[in-house]
Amino acid sequence: MNTRTRPYRRLPTPIAALAAAVKARLVIYGVTIRDSFVVLLPITFVGVTASLLLNQPFLTLRQLMSRVLGATWPAAIHHVMNATYGVFGLALAVVVSIRLAHRLAADDGRDDGIQAWVGIAALANFMLWTGVVGLPVTTALAQHSMLQGIGIGLLTAELLRPLATVCRGAPDYDSEPVFHHAMRMTAPLAILGLIVMLAAQAVAALAPAGAPWLARLAANINPWMEADWLLNTCVVLLNELCWFVGMHGNVAVDQLAHLLFGITGDSFQQALSWRPLVDTFGLLGGSGAALGLVLALFIVAREGPLRRLALMSALPSVFNISELLIFGLPIALNPMFLAPFLLAPLALTLIAVAASHAGLVPLHDLTVPWTTPPLLSGYLVTGSWHGAALQALGLVVSTLIYLPFVRRAEARRLREQKLAFDTAIDAIVAPAQPHLRSVLRSGKSGMIARGLLATLARDLGTPAVSLAFQPKHDRDGVAVGVEALLRWRHGRYGPVRADAAIMLAEQGGLIGRLGGWVLEEACACKARWNAQGLSHITMAINVSPLQLDAPELPRLLADCLRRNRLAPGEIQLEVTESQAIPAHEMVDSNLAAIVSMGVSLAMDDFGMGYSSLLHMRRFPIHAIKIDGSLTRDVLTNSISRDIIHSIASLGTARAVEVVAEFVETAEQRDALLALGCEVFQGYLYSPPLAADDCARYLTRHGAVARRA
Ligand code: C2E
Ligand code: CA
Ligand code: CA
Repeated sequence: MNTRTRPYRRLPTPIAALAAAVKARLVIYGVTIRDSFVVLLPITFVGVTASLLLNQPFLTLRQLMSRVLGATWPAAIHHVMNATYGVFGLALAVVVSIRLAHRLAADDGRDDGIQAWVGIAALANFMLWTGVVGLPVTTALAQHSMLQGIGIGLLTAELLRPLATVCRGAPDYDSEPVFHHAMRMTAPLAILGLIVMLAAQAVAALAPAGAPWLARLAANINPWMEADWLLNTCVVLLNELCWFVGMHGNVAVDQLAHLLFGITGDSFQQALSWRPLVDTFGLLGGSGAALGLVLALFIVAREGPLRRLALMSALPSVFNISELLIFGLPIALNPMFLAPFLLAPLALTLIAVAASHAGLVPLHDLTVPWTTPPLLSGYLVTGSWHGAALQALGLVVSTLIYLPFVRRAEARRLREQKLAFDTAIDAIVAPAQPHLRSVLRSGKSGMIARGLLATLARDLGTPAVSLAFQPKHDRDGVAVGVEALLRWRHGRYGPVRADAAIMLAEQGGLIGRLGGWVLEEACACKARWNAQGLSHITMAINVSPLQLDAPELPRLLADCLRRNRLAPGEIQLEVTESQAIPAHEMVDSNLAAIVSMGVSLAMDDFGMGYSSLLHMRRFPIHAIKIDGSLTRDVLTNSISRDIIHSIASLGTARAVEVVAEFVETAEQRDALLALGCEVFQGYLYSPPLAADDCARYLTRHGAVARRA
């Protein structure tokens, strides 16, 4: 039972329904916010790089840059910072609003085409809010306003759509759609702006009212704050919590510490003089003690997005810049990482305070730049190897704290990856709809399908793509032939279903190359087997209807036979009916050419297609393979039995061999034999085997067995 839904059980139904709806909405908000941080990774990445260049602690490197780039390079980097970190709050408002509007529209199943105006409204509302609340101009748009950005983004997406519905206006048939939308969105935008302004004014007016309460709290806390361990605990927790909910931690600590802890003036500065201790030993690698997280990611994730993130954020976090991890993993607003994100820096800080009290790490020079890499900074701050050793201990402790959480995140990611893969495979093998070819679809499934297609193209010709061979037996149990079946082992996902690989190749224009490879590989294998005395075995090769429609097929086949010195009678092509065989002249002339060459044809999956019987009239067929779904329940379903009997009679009347596949038990084989089937293939005899194993199998079950 799902324990999470239990609390609602005891509530009256409308309240329970409301609670469930609110919960569902909050989940959507959470996903939207996390995705938005990820959307903004490019500007985070550029911002981190700029920050790294600007703050790097090595004097010689700075001098070198000045000599090469001119003395004004820091100004240029400042511009880059302004264009990235400097607009982060604003960008968050826009991205959150657009993504949420998109998601809500998709959930309602209607795309009202107003996403662009949602973004514009969020931008305008954000500016209105920060202006009215009176945020300082320098920080209004930046990382400091992330929380405001998120709030405005959510609010805008939620309110603009209902407002737009109310102010729909008369339908307008002859104006441009964009112009029509722009006109009809003007009033909702203005009304929403007004609402935001009023709300901002209310917040600005109410804010001072909270101050006496805060001041009283601060006065009560103040005496306790004399204890440096408690102050540091609070400062670290405050910093981490702020980052976690999307506020700029360092700024918030500076702004809020004196309000919250009642520390003012000199004593506040004095209290904050501990900050270098916190920065140096508590926040190894930046907020969240991120270097430990990077190490944990390296240990747990061998490949995939977490590994890539670890690689990307390793260098910045060596210089104590952790934004890439906070927004890229993402940690911000991700409950999975709340505990270690608070715990790791806290543990390290308390260890450092304890070590400092015990006199193990004398504080020597607290003016070391905050970007100085761990180990080096520990050494410089304490003037002894003790500092570096303490940091090394901190690295181990923080890595250990992060490890179980990273393991859980990776396990979850792998589960989601498997699910997404299965969904994509389902989309690939779904009944063919030309306008919905899986490789052209947007969204996750389309992306996976395109990735799979590219990998298949790359893997073709390597051991990742191979053929397996499944024996066919006659009524006496003698092996008379094999069917070649494609096998593909994907580097990340493992074995991929053969039919999915084929359909993917068909949808992605790769079937010509893949089918050509199968033909060549199967013929080459047959040639090797012939040298081992297995020339009486027929090699059946599956061909896709799309291959039948290609003018080069007969020539390709003839070349293949000649190169491998095979008699045409040794090869049979299995034409499946599961996909429509195009009614093109090319198909008919190809099949006629192939048959006149002496190669035989088998109609695969007979009985399931729309026109199995008609195909018998269209092509000269040598064998019918009854569809596995019919043979599978020959013992249990009398209709299947009747169909099989009719097909077998048809085969006998037309002198066509009748093959039963999916034969799994001796009882099934006996029933199929009694109904008139002549050749049998299935797990009763053998699963598909690798070429060498199959050759040994065929030798064991060859004509010798017949005599025995
Ligand atoms: P198919 O041609 O009908 O092949 C028979 C499928 O049934 C094979 O699946 C085989 O492994 C499976 N099978 C064999 N014996 C049994 C049994 O006793 N019980 C059950 N339940 N299954 C059995 P596989 O290899 O996954 O291939 C699936 C389909 O993919 C094939 O169906 C064929 O349509 C296509 N395919 C495979 N290889 C190729 C190829 O090289 N070219 C083309 N065009 N299609 C291929
Ligand atoms: Ca087949
Ligand atoms: Ca079949």
